[in-house]
Amino acid sequence: MSQFDTFKHKGLRKQLISKLSQKPGVGPDVITAMAGIPRHIFMDSAFLQFAYEDQAFPIGSGQTISQPYTVAVQTTLLDVKPLQKVLEIGTGSGYQTAVLNALKTKVFSIERQRALFKKAQAILPKLNSTAKLFYGDGYKGLPTFAPFDRILITCGAPEIPEMLFSQLKVGGIMVVPVGDGEVQVMHKIEKKGEDDFSHTAHGEFQFVPMLPNKQSS
Ligand code: SAH
Repeated sequence: MSQFDTFKHKGLRKQLISKLSQKPGVGPDVITAMAGIPRHIFMDSAFLQFAYEDQAFPIGSGQTISQPYTVAVQTTLLDVKPLQKVLEIGTGSGYQTAVLNALKTKVFSIERQRALFKKAQAILPKLNSTAKLFYGDGYKGLPTFAPFDRILITCGAPEIPEMLFSQLKVGGIMVVPVGDGEVQVMHKIEKKGEDDFSHTAHGEFQFVPMLPNKQSS
C-alpha cells in the first residue's frame, strides 16, 4: 500500500481522524479502523486534495462517497463484532465497505450501478479486503446468504425496506437513513422478534436516494 499511501496522505488523514474523534456519536474502534483506510484511493484523482476533508464527493454515475463523519456515525451505530455477517446496501466507492472489513466483519455489499461495482471490485483487493461484492438491487438483499447480524444502508430509503428486515437475524441491528426528501433521519433498528423491533433516531444526514431495480450500466 505504501506506494499510493504517502506521508502527505497519512498526515492529512491523521488530522481528519483527530477531528472526527472529537465529534459526538463516534466510537474508538471505528476511529482506529478509519485511521487505517486510505480514503483517497476511493476517489477520482481530480478530487485527491479533498480526500481528507470531512465532505461527501462525486464518484461518478451521479453518486457520492459518503462524508467521513457520516461513515463514522453509521458504523458506530451498527456496533459490529468480529466475524459478524454484515450486509451493506450501496457499495458506491467501497470506502464504507473497507471500514467494515477493517473491523473484521464478513461484508456482503450490493451496488446497483455497474460502473461503481466494477471500480470497487478493482480497488478493494488492493487493501486485502475480503468483502464480497454483488451487482444488483439492494432492495432484494441477498436471500442466499441471509440471515445477517447487521444491515447497513448507505443511501436514503423512503421507508424501512421490509424485505431486508426479514434477512436480519433476531437480535440483529439495521442502520438506515430514512426519508425521500433533501435530508434523511438516521434510524437504528433492533430486531427483537420476527415481527418485532425497536428503533431510535440519530439526527439528520444527507444521502443519495435508494432506488429500486437496476439502471443502465
Ligand atoms: N458507502 C458508499 C456510499 C455511496 S452513495 C460510499 O461511501 O462510497 C450510495 C450508493 O447506493 C450509490 O452508489 C448508489 O448507486 C447505491 N444505491 C442506490 N440504490 C441502491 C439499490 N437499490 N441497491 C444497491 N445500491 C443502491
